[in-house]
Amino acid sequence: MTLHGANFSAADRIDTSVAHPARRYNYLLGGKDNFAADRESGDALAAAMPTIRLSAVENRMFLQRAVRFLAQHGVRQFLDIGTGIPTADNTHEVAQAIDPSARVVYVDNDPIVLAHARALLSSTPQGRTAYLDADLREPEKILAHPDLRTTLDLTQPVALMLVAILHFIRDDEDPRGILDRLIAALPSGSYVVASHVTWEYLPPAVTAQLEANNRDGRFQARSTEQFAALLDGLELVEPGIVSVARWHADDAPQPRPSVQDVSFNAAVARVR
Ligand code: SAH
Repeated sequence: MTLHGANFSAADRIDTSVAHPARRYNYLLGGKDNFAADRESGDALAAAMPTIRLSAVENRMFLQRAVRFLAQHGVRQFLDIGTGIPTADNTHEVAQAIDPSARVVYVDNDPIVLAHARALLSSTPQGRTAYLDADLREPEKILAHPDLRTTLDLTQPVALMLVAILHFIRDDEDPRGILDRLIAALPSGSYVVASHVTWEYLPPAVTAQLEANNRDGRFQARSTEQFAALLDGLELVEPGIVSVARWHADDAPQPRPSVQDVSFNAAVARVR
């Protein structure tokens, strides 16, 4: 346990009276692992931005397409930070459907995700999965964790997945520095998979409402330019930074939703 000490079980750490990102995202995806506070917060976001559920679904479909793409390009190891509550087609299921020997380390700091972690550990016999209860803002702890070290071989390429999590790291928490410290531990030929909420395409009235919902300032949307700056120095896989709805989406139902309706950028980048 990293948040409240080893004496507390996951259940003790779960506060259902306050909305939590993982449970709110689960609600927006149509899941059942959420509470009234999460639903109220999700409904408030949906009142401001009626297509927010579509955005969540499209983000999840991007995650699955990106994992499939990398597995098809030979990547066999995944470090998925900001796992979320398990749903259909989690990272290990998508990767192991292509190669049953694929290995996945999941990381999240939400006790409710920890409570569901068993579902994330249902690896194929040939592959392996592990779950770390840890925080993206402490990358050294993640990298040094014994369960990471026994699951992943850091001399071989790893896909570092930061899907819909970087907008929970404020500028003063140094997202770029966190990314650099994680990438420094990965060999050349590794990849970064990231998605990030942007408000740049939304009408000002919608942005104002979303900002009013973010009074605690926990959430930081970033423009395409700011997202690109986080990935600067990495080699973007074609087509570069695009809407999650458009990243390698030729086989997805057409027509694809607009950037305004989804407002979520995606990128896959190669570590040189
Ligand atoms: N990556 C999944 C889930 C995204 S929801 C997907 O795209 O479908 C964002 C997740 O990030 C939540 O589960 C939340 O608990 C987790 N998260 C937010 N801040 C975090 C932090 N600092 N460290 C670890 N996990 C974090």
